[in-house]
Amino acid sequence: MTTLAELKARWAEAGVHTLVAQFTDIHGVAKGKFVPLAQLDALIERGAGFSGPSIWGTGLPRTGPRSEYYGRGDLATAAALPWMPGYARIACDGFVDGAPFDACPRQVLKRQTARLAERGWLLQAGIEPEFFLLERREQGYVPADDHDRLAKPSYDLKSLPRQREFLARLADGLTACGFAIEQIDHEDAHGQYEINYAHADALTSADRLMLFKMAGHAIADELGLVFSMMPKPFADQPGSGMHFHLSLWGTDGECCMFDGAPRELSDLGRHFVAGVLEHAPALCAIAAPTVNSYKRLSGSASITGTTWAPATIAHGPNNRTAMVRTLSGRFEWRLPDASANPYLALAGVIAAGLDGIERALEPPAACTDDLYEAAPAALAERGIERLPRTLDAAIDALERDDVVLEALGATLAAQFVDLKRREVADHARHVSTWELERYAAFF
Ligand code: GLU
Ligand code: MG
Repeated sequence: MTTLAELKARWAEAGVHTLVAQFTDIHGVAKGKFVPLAQLDALIERGAGFSGPSIWGTGLPRTGPRSEYYGRGDLATAAALPWMPGYARIACDGFVDGAPFDACPRQVLKRQTARLAERGWLLQAGIEPEFFLLERREQGYVPADDHDRLAKPSYDLKSLPRQREFLARLADGLTACGFAIEQIDHEDAHGQYEINYAHADALTSADRLMLFKMAGHAIADELGLVFSMMPKPFADQPGSGMHFHLSLWGTDGECCMFDGAPRELSDLGRHFVAGVLEHAPALCAIAAPTVNSYKRLSGSASITGTTWAPATIAHGPNNRTAMVRTLSGRFEWRLPDASANPYLALAGVIAAGLDGIERALEPPAACTDDLYEAAPAALAERGIERLPRTLDAAIDALERDDVVLEALGATLAAQFVDLKRREVADHARHVSTWELERYAAFF
């Protein structure tokens, strides 16, 4: 086993002088400190200290032993950052008063992966981030590429190469951090891209998503661009989803969601999916956690023909119009958007899936039709419900759902509900340009 001293020596030789001790706040935003490499032992054993109440969503007091939040580095996550030569990132777990902090999102996910491990299972997660490359100009945020104007911009090979400097730096940087990059494409909105990399266990995937966001921001910044994980920046165009491809595996290395038939799930897979459908309204609060998120989920058309975001609680084999697209031995959870905290979204979906398994829930009939084409009355007749239409409604659903609340833990759940209700209230008080234009001279 490599000792910390050996590791320090190896890194020093490779030019690393500073560690980025990074933790994740309740909003899924990377926070942290620079720590000299010489302090590696202290970062791993005790953690870097932060003022607890200065971090969103901790609910920690201003005084006393519980006012200190320690970010304790997880050595397994250490990676030198090519876009910041000399720096290496270490993902940290929150500790307070010498014990794991219940409201640290990484700890929240670890509690759920531990529940899986107790049953001999591991969740593999492939996360597909979509994002926009914008510029801030006089008129506000606009797609960085003025020539990116196609009516159907998906897979556009004229605008994709124009952003190749950003995309190549991002892909090369992430590859050096251990990502296996699979594909990079222009998505279905102007200025929107997606980068796909190989799946990993849930915790590793969440840690990687945070590193992806850090890299995206840093590289865009250098190029004078704005990297945006906002769910729906432009009303007439598709938003940014963050789909999760999920599958349960046994300790024997066998996929437990595969039953041998193409495009079919095993009993276990079906129960898991049934749990995800059952808890969808509450999961919506953490998978689509901003007021803006619900503009993506509205089911409305876009200039390209469709938003490709779910509006209803449904599943179907290879059905991209459903919230759950089932595939052979895995399923794609299409609800989360780019603003979701990956730790919380994964913790929630594990708790929902385990509830489905424990209660042996069966999903409703699979949908094979285009759900965007179905009339609301016809959907209602089939028992297909809509996802919550607002963040407020999703928070109501969360407050009624003991399974998802328990997964988040009492402290984080209370903080989340409080912060999000305030976000809803702020938004409700705001008078938009749309309102002014529509009503100012109308009556
Ligand atoms: N942008 C779509 C969404 O918001 C997804 C497009 C796709 O299927 O890749 O979910
Ligand atoms: Mg996509």
